[in-house]
Amino acid sequence: MPADAPRHLLGIAGLQPHQIMRILDEAERWADARDARAEPLLAGLTQINAFFEPSTRTLLSFEIAGKRLGADVVNMHAAGSSVTKGETLIDTAVTLNAMRADVLVIRHGSSGAVGLIADKVGCPVLNAGDGSHEHPTQALLDALTIRRRKGALAGLRVAICGDLLHSRVARSNILLLTAMAAEVRVAAPATLLPAALKAMGVAAFTDMDEAIEGADVVMMLRVQRERMAGGLIPSPREYHAFWGLTRERLARAAPDALVMHPGPMNRGVEIASSVADDPERSAITEQVAMGVAVRMACLDLLTRDQRAGGAS
Ligand code: ASP
Repeated sequence: MPADAPRHLLGIAGLQPHQIMRILDEAERWADARDARAEPLLAGLTQINAFFEPSTRTLLSFEIAGKRLGADVVNMHAAGSSVTKGETLIDTAVTLNAMRADVLVIRHGSSGAVGLIADKVGCPVLNAGDGSHEHPTQALLDALTIRRRKGALAGLRVAICGDLLHSRVARSNILLLTAMAAEVRVAAPATLLPAALKAMGVAAFTDMDEAIEGADVVMMLRVQRERMAGGLIPSPREYHAFWGLTRERLARAAPDALVMHPGPMNRGVEIASSVADDPERSAITEQVAMGVAVRMACLDLLTRDQRAGGAS
């Protein structure tokens, strides 16, 4: 276990470029492995996935990752938990801690909630998305996907487009890609473009066509209607006309530009099906596959100390 490895994975913020590289390199060894069960590194450990917000691919991916490494994986969903009965975050943390999990994977609707729980528990915590703050494993799986397709991250022009205001995916990706010396451009309607992003070392555009000019990677973001009180976007049809990634629009990017989307997609809104389903350009299903590899690497790295000292 590297001496400088963080105890938790709460965000990309705070990770050094060499730590990011290390996670990607470790994930690489699982990326092609058909049957990683041959190495039950987490055998005897209990992994609790506590999801206080809906999820399909992230939850499934963490579950598969844990099981492939031999962990006992338990999923806790908010709908059936005491959170819906009014339990406070601190009570939830104390309860999770009392279960003596060896590793906790947490998704929560409030920014900072996962960090707060991490302070109160005795095991490593992985942030599976907290509000509009961070989604570190998504950025890591995106980086692994890009690196495998393009060979490197440094020097690439990456355009991140769409609902930047609510996107933890965008935030984590900006932090990671700028740390790895990629050129990051962001583009959103003025109502969905937070001023704080400009301080993160990215070029901000309110015209998507300009932003994707010559881009090596075009990363589309979901319009997060569940986080909008209303009035932030026009009709889905109008949004698609100005902000949807269509074949015509993609022609402005580099000829071999990679198209990405973290899912779930609003087809016909932020992305046209003809682009999303184009096997030549779209890396969307590869992103899902890399998600398992990255999460295996993170689970392995964060539990190495415990395993060395004897699992509970
Ligand atoms: N699945 C990603 C997330 O949890 C992206 C999204 O929901 O749009 O943040």
